[in-house]
Amino acid sequence: MNTKIIRIQGQGENFSGGEDMALREAGEVLRRGGLVAFPTETVYGLGGDALNPESSRKIYAAKGRPADNPLIVHIARTEDLARIADRISESAVQLARAFWPGPLTMILHKSQEVPYETTGGLDTVAVRMPSHQVARRLISYGGGYVAAPSANLSGRPSPTSARYVKEDMDGRIDVIIDGGDGEIGLESTIVDLTVSPPQVLRPGFITRDMLAGVLGQVDLDRTLLRADSGQAPRAPGMKYRHYAPQGELTIVSGQAEQVTAYINACAAEDGSRGHKVGVIATDEELPGYRADLVCSLGSRRDEEEIARRLYGILRRFDDEKVTRIYSECFDDTGLGQAIMNRLLKAAGHRLVVLEGNQK
Ligand code: AMP
Ligand code: MG
Repeated sequence: MNTKIIRIQGQGENFSGGEDMALREAGEVLRRGGLVAFPTETVYGLGGDALNPESSRKIYAAKGRPADNPLIVHIARTEDLARIADRISESAVQLARAFWPGPLTMILHKSQEVPYETTGGLDTVAVRMPSHQVARRLISYGGGYVAAPSANLSGRPSPTSARYVKEDMDGRIDVIIDGGDGEIGLESTIVDLTVSPPQVLRPGFITRDMLAGVLGQVDLDRTLLRADSGQAPRAPGMKYRHYAPQGELTIVSGQAEQVTAYINACAAEDGSRGHKVGVIATDEELPGYRADLVCSLGSRRDEEEIARRLYGILRRFDDEKVTRIYSECFDDTGLGQAIMNRLLKAAGHRLVVLEGNQK
């Protein structure tokens, strides 16, 4: 298959006539059952018509995604929720009002219109209304309901730029829309509203505190930050080792100087055994590391920047064929919770806690 690449530079009202026409054509591709990758404010999505079972099957095939890992349905208008969700609760209405359009996915009871191919066999459906103007326009032109997981091959980091989508999806899908880099860089927060109290199944930019500010009590799926709970996470996809770099990743927690010394010692030892060693650092500690490739996520104080850069750095280590990676650790509060969730998953929960530090 020849994958067409479309570049869109405008935003919303500023789309040029040509850009609008290109988005209209991409929408037609979706209506006819084809696949289109597109930018959102979180990461790039791999879209197909959510109400067409054949489109959903194609998404799983293009990604190599396990069939029990459900897709998120993207909509462009809140009123479109009614067709795909049953028993829409007051909580859902309140969260939509507070956070849509934006990086929040809600789990609701599905209507009969949503095929089981889209929900991985579940009676619930995940729904999100993105804020990215290119995504919204495409969804509207594509019929209003676009199932879209992240546009990476299963097991690779989610793509934060069209370049990474092309790396994974060239020749596998009909169209890639290049709309620049993701603003947030981590996937949406997922909150399950079919349980009481509501539960966060995947942490993201919209934090549990922000949700609780609207709904009162909101729980966190406790399996998320721990490897040893012995229970399967409630979002089927969270059990897979997503976000996995090809090199073995270890997270090191402790006082800054201890962490630097420990990582440098490991890097020297690994290097002597023929490994190519990478370090995921912050600006503050960057000069202290000695390894083959040291990349900074930005300042430790700027969690939004860290979130934006994380997946790109993991991909860079893959490109450079790094075989061992060490990363600094982050506080797991606020946005840090989403950052640590993704890092721990990428590391297969390999975490070294240095003496004198309780974290
Ligand atoms: P992705 O779009 O690649 O970020 O993956 C979608 C995530 O949403 C996966 O972790 C899924 O397991 C989760 N998800 C989608 N639908 C549901 C659902 N009905 N119930 C629970 N989790 C879901
Ligand atoms: Mg994904």
